[in-house]
Amino acid sequence: MIGSVGYPDWISRLSDRVQELGSISDPIVQTAFDEIISEGRVSISTGESLFLHADLIDVMLLGHAIKKSRYDNEIYFNSNLHVNTTNICVLACRFCAFRRGPKAQDAYALSVDEYLDRIRPFSSRIDEVHSVGGLHPEWDVTYYANLISSAKEKYPHLSMKCLTAVEIKHLSQISEISISEVLSKLIDAGLTSLPGGGAEILDDEVRKVICNGKESSEEYLDIHRTAHLLGIPTNSTMLFGTIETASQRINHLDKIRKLQDETRGFQCFVPYPFLPDRTRLPQAQHSTGNETLRTISISRIMLDNVPHIKAYRMNIGDHLSSLALNAGADDVDGTVGHEEIMHEAGSQTSVEDDLDRLSRLIEDAGGVPIRRSTTYDHFEIHRRRPPSDGDKWVSLPVADMI
Ligand code: SF4
Repeated sequence: MIGSVGYPDWISRLSDRVQELGSISDPIVQTAFDEIISEGRVSISTGESLFLHADLIDVMLLGHAIKKSRYDNEIYFNSNLHVNTTNICVLACRFCAFRRGPKAQDAYALSVDEYLDRIRPFSSRIDEVHSVGGLHPEWDVTYYANLISSAKEKYPHLSMKCLTAVEIKHLSQISEISISEVLSKLIDAGLTSLPGGGAEILDDEVRKVICNGKESSEEYLDIHRTAHLLGIPTNSTMLFGTIETASQRINHLDKIRKLQDETRGFQCFVPYPFLPDRTRLPQAQHSTGNETLRTISISRIMLDNVPHIKAYRMNIGDHLSSLALNAGADDVDGTVGHEEIMHEAGSQTSVEDDLDRLSRLIEDAGGVPIRRSTTYDHFEIHRRRPPSDGDKWVSLPVADMI
């Protein structure tokens, strides 16, 4: 499997972890637990009942027990920087507060030099650049290959996690080459992995309403499949709380796990709720804290073959993230440094580039902060030294993870 850590035999550890955390009294959660023990996988109908009828605390308990079975108390994060390349976009997804038309006063498109200037102040303390943006009407694959190779030339230590599936599709259309050729050119330029954004809900009826014109569900999956077959890992996401039903959420999770059965290329799944500010989707449901935590736990419960579940701080905030780390998430958004997409939609989360503060959040949630590489193949424990030793945070190599 690409980029995996933890206990491969986690199912055999699950009963003990559940007992350590308490006991399951909800019959639906008990059924989910029994299905994992006997089949290794929770059925679609049980998953749907977890959304609709199960007790939240028990759902969280099972999500957290699975997380602990897989990783004990380790919580992963990376030291990264978000750089959005452009907010100009030829589409106008109804949930999106980020995109601008080319003539908007605050429309921007970074040149390669401006892109490198954004990275420079952070370059010595980050491991990854996470870059996504709008679908620029003129930029083709050559532009992005140049952007990525220029960044790699200047900062060879950085991983480049760039371009969502719809951006890859757009580059394929504008450059008149196949998806596979686009990805191959970008990999040659230094692309490390794809972020998971743009999955929204993998149901074409929902997509027609919330992001008409974007790639179809099947195209999203095909682009990730192609990336996996070309040897690079990807993440996947789920944007919930717009107009979808519980059944559509569960089908989304099932599509991800079916593709993962085939390719083993997904590293991390990132479920996050719709943020309604300044968007054009008045009919959207607004997710409560309950629903956000429930969805993160159910993601952990359903996605038995996806290694990591992320609490996306930039969207759900630090407070809910620290609860999510006790509900199934084992990974938390990194240092970030700068973020526009969620903040345009109303996120108040600090983008302060502070490793110690992030590590404190993880410790307060009962976790051990593990700084990881983009592809989960290099780890350091970020620990606070005792007061007698200066009370400073230090990163220590992890000789032998778990
Ligand atoms: S979500 Fe992406 S593709 Fe859709 S309008 Fe916003 S920037 Fe464009």
